[in-house]
Amino acid sequence: MDGGLLTALLDLCFPPRCVACALGVERVYLDALGLCPGCRRGLGGPVERCLACARQVGPEPVRRLGRAEARQTCERCAGPHAEEDALATPRHASAPSRRAIRGVVAAWTYGGVPRDLVVALKFHARTAAARPLALALAEALRHAEVPGDLVVHVPLSALRRRQRGYDQAGLLARHVARTLGVERSRRALRRRRHTAPQSGLSRSARRRAPRGAFVARPSRVAGRCVILIDDVLTSGATAKACALALRRAGALSVTVAVACRAERGRG
Ligand SMILES: [Zn+2]
Ligand SMILES: [Zn+2]
Repeated sequence: MDGGLLTALLDLCFPPRCVACALGVERVYLDALGLCPGCRRGLGGPVERCLACARQVGPEPVRRLGRAEARQTCERCAGPHAEEDALATPRHASAPSRRAIRGVVAAWTYGGVPRDLVVALKFHARTAAARPLALALAEALRHAEVPGDLVVHVPLSALRRRQRGYDQAGLLARHVARTLGVERSRRALRRRRHTAPQSGLSRSARRRAPRGAFVARPSRVAGRCVILIDDVLTSGATAKACALALRRAGALSVTVAVACRAERGRG
């Protein structure tokens, strides 16, 4: 049987589905990333984001600005409480930084189609959803001109990984590393113990929970500029704990890169 006929037969029995909304559609309508036209439109274009926390800067999606015009930080990160609040130190900050995170990059705000993709990837084992997320993230990293010579992901605990069968941030990291042509290490960072799912915790407990939960291997990360990949950034506590572990192991810098930034009141 020729390949075309086989595909047609398979499509009849198992109609191809959009990786985001899982709607069965004819193959011709799916784009190269497996998205249906509705989801493709729903993804929207890139927006400018704060370099320190990756929150969207400005009221709505904007055209891509040139580097010189781009605003560096949101009001929150530049404001009086920035010392306690900000995840990272913006580049133009005058005081020498003692923070572990150099900057935060996100492809999208958590919500809508990007949220559907994350949910598909994390909870419905639709691993093909990793590609559109990772490609947009790689593009955002390029645009932000992030220094990086090692891609590392926020690892699941061994228990959670066994339950899920794969590590979603690891999948994102693989695609991002390939797209950018940067080396990737799967074992640079390890989760020491199983931590409770963050969604069940209060805000303050969330911030406390991951401290000391990660350990990094100096042999892999010392002297490297690390791009730390995760699917969603909420409080940033987990990313911070990872970045501290990486810096302790000798990483020169850590930039956090997430597919989605959770922002209250958006998405
Ligand atoms: Zn769809
Ligand atoms: Zn900010």
